[in-house]
Amino acid sequence: MTMDRRKFLESSSALLSAAALGAAAAPGADAAPAPGRKYRLVATEEAFSIPEQVEVFQQCKKTLWHDPDVEQWAIFLGQAALMGRLLDVDHERLSIMDKAGVDVHVLSLTSPGVQLPDADTATSLATIANDRLAEMIQRHPTRYAGLASFAPQDPARAAKEIDRAINKLKLNGLIVNSHTNAEYLDDRKFWPIFEAATAVDAAIYIHPRNPPAPAAQYLKADVNLWAAIWGYQQETGLHAMRLIISGIFDEFPKLKIVLGHAGEAVPYWLYRMDYMYANAAAGIYKSVSGRKLKRKPSDYVKDNFYITTSGMNDHAVLRYNHGVLGPDHILFAIDYPYQESVEAANFMNAAPLPEADVEKIAHGNAEKIFRVKPAG
Ligand code: MN
Repeated sequence: MTMDRRKFLESSSALLSAAALGAAAAPGADAAPAPGRKYRLVATEEAFSIPEQVEVFQQCKKTLWHDPDVEQWAIFLGQAALMGRLLDVDHERLSIMDKAGVDVHVLSLTSPGVQLPDADTATSLATIANDRLAEMIQRHPTRYAGLASFAPQDPARAAKEIDRAINKLKLNGLIVNSHTNAEYLDDRKFWPIFEAATAVDAAIYIHPRNPPAPAAQYLKADVNLWAAIWGYQQETGLHAMRLIISGIFDEFPKLKIVLGHAGEAVPYWLYRMDYMYANAAAGIYKSVSGRKLKRKPSDYVKDNFYITTSGMNDHAVLRYNHGVLGPDHILFAIDYPYQESVEAANFMNAAPLPEADVEKIAHGNAEKIFRVKPAG
């Protein structure tokens, strides 16, 4: 019995040290000491809000309780520190950027952007948000760039706002937060949005939001698996796959789509999507429209898609994506204020990749794809 007890104590201390090692190497926690500032950092998925958007969330809270994003915002609205950070671009944000060594935030209206209310409210909120964003950039031209909002609820007016935001306000690209009223952008009625985006050569960042209510109910586990722990990736990865399969990239070969969170797991799935699509005609993957894509699904991912590192400070994942997509299709992002700036900056500065490639990922690709002004 004594021996057993000693063995038990030995094995439990071994377990304890294994747990300690595991904790040090856990995804997101850099085991190495902070490597310090090394690269110019342009962060490309950085959220802001404006009082008019907060007002919309408050209104929706009264009317749309079935929507998981409304339910989530009812919680966020009560978090004073988070709301303060979303609404600030002139004070704390800049000092956090300085502390982390982050040069530029490419700002975007926080998810789900303008996509909760009716078409008129959404369209006018997009206009206000884009005007406000242009003013923020004007106040801090070396620290901010911005992605314009548009309201998919009214594709024709969205197309006009896209043109105004890029040509008149000189914003740097576009953002949309996945589905709108459970509709996805592969629906032909949204084509005016892609026509407008490609006409002004603006990349569209597809940012997550929660899946529509019927799908979101299956995310309720012991911990609700909505939002960033799982549901966002499921929703946004699905959106990307719908676009690929719809043939939209055959119609708009120059369309650029950006996905956050290391590509929402899409780059991990290339072999399987190609293999199954090649067998599409034969069985359960038969095309409803009879359309046949001109290229393999993975070809569109490699050519039309760009991914960012937002909220995924994991070097193993970065190395994998670098291997699959190459250095020209990956952009640095933090996901401020939802994730930590110092940790994300350290992750990038210590990236285990050739320096020339990290220069592209840290800032060069953002300067190219979002036309962010280079340093100096
Ligand atoms: Mn985000």
